[in-house]
Amino acid sequence: MSGGTVVADQSLQDELNPFLAMAKRFDVASDHLGLDQGVREVLRTPDRELTVAIPILMDDGTTRVFTGYRVQHNFSRGPCKGGIRFSPDVHLDEVRALAAWMTWKCSVVGIPFGGAKGGVICDPRELSQGELERITRRYTASIMDILGPDRDVPAPDMNTNEQTMAWIMDTYSMHVRRTTTAIVTGKPIAIGGSRGRTEATGRGVMISTREGMRRLGMDPGVARVVVQGSGNVGGIAALLLHREGYKIVSISDMYGTILNDGGLDVPAVMTWLKEHRRLEGYPEAEHLANKEQLELPCEILIPAATENQITSRNAERIKAKLIVEGANGPTTAEASKMLDDDGVMVVPDILANAGGVTVSYFEWVQDRMGYFWTEDVVNSRLEQVMATSFDDVFGVAKEHDVSLRIAAYMLAIDRVATVYRLRGIFA
Ligand code: NAD
Repeated sequence: MSGGTVVADQSLQDELNPFLAMAKRFDVASDHLGLDQGVREVLRTPDRELTVAIPILMDDGTTRVFTGYRVQHNFSRGPCKGGIRFSPDVHLDEVRALAAWMTWKCSVVGIPFGGAKGGVICDPRELSQGELERITRRYTASIMDILGPDRDVPAPDMNTNEQTMAWIMDTYSMHVRRTTTAIVTGKPIAIGGSRGRTEATGRGVMISTREGMRRLGMDPGVARVVVQGSGNVGGIAALLLHREGYKIVSISDMYGTILNDGGLDVPAVMTWLKEHRRLEGYPEAEHLANKEQLELPCEILIPAATENQITSRNAERIKAKLIVEGANGPTTAEASKMLDDDGVMVVPDILANAGGVTVSYFEWVQDRMGYFWTEDVVNSRLEQVMATSFDDVFGVAKEHDVSLRIAAYMLAIDRVATVYRLRGIFA
């Protein structure tokens, strides 16, 4: 009996392991492409992994040593690009998976970057602003040898923000003795950030939803939308979709879910969130537990909170016809297969949430040109990249009779593999 439980737990653990989840999709797409075994081996393996010790003098006078990672999965198409997260749960397998996802994401939208990701094991809720600044600066100094506008350009991720990017930019600039704005993206506009960057991921999710709806022949006016998460991605996607006339019936945060079958007044929900910091108590809606949200009756589901939300344990109870993955890795490989079998269209994370990295690329370009664009220019270029990429992925899916996810991987892997073949192996 206990042996059975261990086996069951092990298979669930494997299902939830982000690196295995990425590798499973990679293998299926590579099989469809008939990818050579050697190239497959190269593309599966991260190019470089750095682990650093970060000794910090704490406010109370003690010294603590934190651990930081930077994984560069692949830099054959250009400098590496990827966020840095601060979290007590960061582990190397997670950073590896996220770095690989960045390679495929940049490739699928055709921007000239490779993929990387970084993380520091720490709990920002327990750290003062001064301690966070010292961790950021020491971590930056420790990984500086592999960073640079032409090497690896970090960005914000979980629990890091514009301020963190400003500290990284300053630390790097002080070391190289010149102001180097293109070393990070997601910076404040005052130090070289891009207009439209904050909304970019949510805007990309909105565009992907619209494109998915169009392919399914569904009417935005009658579609009910459920959005998991109300942060940078979920909150902005909900606002923009509401503005486009979609009916957002439910939205959530980590503490709970709100539901209004007649449609939520999304701007009012966002104002409430700004004032109260959580959805709890919002008057114009029913309140539910989070575990009920993903299974609510709806046409469109946008998981935009965190990974591993749709698993083999709840996939068959999902009612949406279109799922647009705002978060990274919200659906496990096992659940993806169940959704495919049920005929649900899933716009995969590496396409649906690529709006953020696309405008990060625009930010890097603007920093290097020293010439900054209006928000309208940023948004129309983003629109063009997202709509074209959706078309490309949809075309591969039709041609090979595969899901949008496998099509996105095929397109992305094929572009990186082409670069490998052209460049050859340096020896
Ligand atoms: P965020 O911290 O701004 O917001 C996360 C939201 O999810 C918050 O509202 C939080 O309360 C909620 N949440 C957390 N756990 C939840 C749960 N179990 N149920 C319901 N709600 C929950 O983060 P974000 O920037 O919006 O990122 C969300 C996801 O999108 C992450 O997977 C991130 O890696 C991915 N992503 C973000 C960007 C970006 O530009 N911000 C780009 C690409 C991908």
